[in-house]
Amino acid sequence: MNLIKTNIKPDFYWILLLSCIVLFPNFYLAAVSSDLNGSFFWKISYLLISFVIFFTPSLFLKARYFFLLHGIFVLLAPIEIVHIYLNKMGIMTGFMIAVFDTNKNEVLEIFTSMLPIILVFLFIWVVYFFILFKKIKNRYIISDTKLRIAILAVFLFIFMSFFAYMYRIAYILTPKEEQHRVPNVALSFFTLKFEKIYPCSIILKSIYAIDINVNVKKNREELNKFSFNAEKQSIKEREIYVFVIGEAARYKNFSINGYERETSPLLSKTDGLVSYSNFYSGANFTNISLPLILTRATATDYYRWTKEKSFVDAFKEAGFKTYWIANQGAGNKFIRRISKDADEEFFETKNLEATNTYDQKLWIYLDKILNRNEEKVLIVIHSLGSHFRYNFRYPPNFEVFKPGFKDRSNYNNYNLVVPENKQLFVNTYDNSILYTDYFLANTIKKIENQNTVAFFAYTSDHGENLFDTDENLVLHGSSEPTEFEIHVPLFIWSSKKYQEIYSEKWKNILANKDKKTSAKILFYSMLDAADITFPEQDLEQCFTSDFMKEDSVRYVLTPDMSVKSFK
Ligand SMILES: [Zn+2]
Repeated sequence: MNLIKTNIKPDFYWILLLSCIVLFPNFYLAAVSSDLNGSFFWKISYLLISFVIFFTPSLFLKARYFFLLHGIFVLLAPIEIVHIYLNKMGIMTGFMIAVFDTNKNEVLEIFTSMLPIILVFLFIWVVYFFILFKKIKNRYIISDTKLRIAILAVFLFIFMSFFAYMYRIAYILTPKEEQHRVPNVALSFFTLKFEKIYPCSIILKSIYAIDINVNVKKNREELNKFSFNAEKQSIKEREIYVFVIGEAARYKNFSINGYERETSPLLSKTDGLVSYSNFYSGANFTNISLPLILTRATATDYYRWTKEKSFVDAFKEAGFKTYWIANQGAGNKFIRRISKDADEEFFETKNLEATNTYDQKLWIYLDKILNRNEEKVLIVIHSLGSHFRYNFRYPPNFEVFKPGFKDRSNYNNYNLVVPENKQLFVNTYDNSILYTDYFLANTIKKIENQNTVAFFAYTSDHGENLFDTDENLVLHGSSEPTEFEIHVPLFIWSSKKYQEIYSEKWKNILANKDKKTSAKILFYSMLDAADITFPEQDLEQCFTSDFMKEDSVRYVLTPDMSVKSFK
């Protein structure tokens, strides 16, 4: 005690203040994290390790360099803090992929909805660097070299005991015949713990995200050679297949699925429309979910999408004209890969901030394509659906459920994103579902008017939380996905001519509608629906087949890239 007391330097309190700023994400996570919740021991251990990681560089660096190094992470801290705020957990790989993927709209969207917080961050940055350059003396925080060495030894001891503990767990969990894997397993457990500690979290997740991107590039050549050997079983008639990808639409809020509010009056009246009652998405985050819808990748075999093409490519192989129409940004690498390989791509330039990005704007492109009268066509429509800031997704005449959010100024006050405003959220969200109903029903009409063999399917990339559970989750992408985030609609419609020519398939589509199933069937089902065959077709995964099997367990991939199972 004496030693410390006599050593207090005039800039001690400045050092303390800067340290608190640097460690703020860690304090914040310890306070609100759903993982650490309820365990005082874990919270203390978490903070202790956080402190050790934070302080270690000061044993090698003088104070100014030390805080300059941490300054980088103070600048990046808003990403972590906003993430904790929204998800009650630290940054996740999916989010970093979105950051790198120039799916910047999705990221910016989140940030700009919290302008007051951003201003606070700006203020803290200024304060931090002012103190750093004006108040901190450039000397070692612990001036005594022997003491520094002693602390380093203690830190090393802590790390090593921690690793030993993980090693023991790995040893217990690894089966006898696989004991050679224990060091690797232990190491992965060890790093897993650091993934939660800022700034290790953001460094590790960035490395994972970059690794995925490198993987995609590396596989491009291999991918170009890839073929499904898909063939179309030919019929004379003109055939149109339309696949619509929704955004954040949850099953429960459509009246066609039993919701008490009349949110889908038009779809309910649409002849030849089937709603699947027990269909789950494969992920609860856009970027992760899209490959699970479009390729043979699954929650348990995710990276398959980096090595294989999508069903859009398979349609093209089979001789279809393929089109990609999107009301979502063109920045997503995976989507871009598919849309570029399609015969034509249309991206409605989209600014999520704008209030006129309604999905019906895509009809110009749809009409244009349909007017070409091509023989065999696949059109994928990537809609904006119920993307956050729900009231931006529909014109004023769809404001049926009130009161709802009116304009953007509403959201800028982050105090509004609180459980007390649940009804505002639900009303606005339901209006966006009502608009989705209008968009889908009229899209179907357009195809129906072509008077030919036509097939339509719609699903959503994931659902949405609306303060439904005790944890009061809102939006999507939580580490423990709720039913609301993954139970999504699957609507299938076909024309009379389709039902005549493919009567067997249509009969099966109706018969399978209540089976427990998930996004992984879409790839196989879309191809079989169009009577496209390929050597690896799997009829057990086709809603068009009477061999279709129910899922016993459904797997969902979280933004954390961890697999969760659902019955
Ligand atoms: Zn989404």
